[in-house]
Amino acid sequence: MAAETGAAEAQPKPPVDVPVIVLSGPSGSGKSTIVDRLVRESPVKLVKVISATTRPPRPTEKDGEDYYFLSPEEFERRRQAGEFLECAEVHGSGYWYGTLLSELRRAAEQGGWALPEIDVQGALRVMEVYPDALTIFLKTPSEEEYERRLRKRGTESDEAIQRRLQTARNELQYAHRYRYQVINDDLDRAVREIVDIISQWEEKAHA
Ligand code: 5GP
Repeated sequence: MAAETGAAEAQPKPPVDVPVIVLSGPSGSGKSTIVDRLVRESPVKLVKVISATTRPPRPTEKDGEDYYFLSPEEFERRRQAGEFLECAEVHGSGYWYGTLLSELRRAAEQGGWALPEIDVQGALRVMEVYPDALTIFLKTPSEEEYERRLRKRGTESDEAIQRRLQTARNELQYAHRYRYQVINDDLDRAVREIVDIISQWEEKAHA
């Protein structure tokens, strides 16, 4: 008998069975602060996915908490071994960043939603593998405000700041691919808005 055709093509099963929520937006947009607040205040358990990177740690960053800081050789070895859900060289810096499948497994084991903090390139890839992911794009109120926040942080050269601004401009073009867009004009307000989005999403999932 001929194979059945015409039906919606079956999506390949995601590599790890876990709900995924993706929050992206330019670094310096207040994303990390929001993520930390969400982990504490979300109505569902969120497990922050710790990315791997070849970027050296900033003075306050800790290995295994902010990132897994890997040498370029170790990163490449894991990439070849298929250990990443996605990975990419981010904003022309020469540094690699990636989401480890082992982190998604950790979220599943802890019974939570996996929350990777990734750039747009990575998020688009995650959307392909996890079409049911809840995706949120975090915007700064204006480019001037974004630049001000980057400078206030004081960790980067002028050239690096310009590069990030350009990346942010490029990434903004993909904001419409996310299910929701949230403006980080006021931290408490933005957190509340995202908490509401998560609650509605959770209700829909169980409806
Ligand atoms: P930063 O160096 O400021 O910590 O991060 C730089 C950029 O890398 C940010 O836009 C951040 O979202 C992105 N990034 C962090 N982790 C990952 C990851 O696992 N995959 C991808 N594709 N991007 C990431």
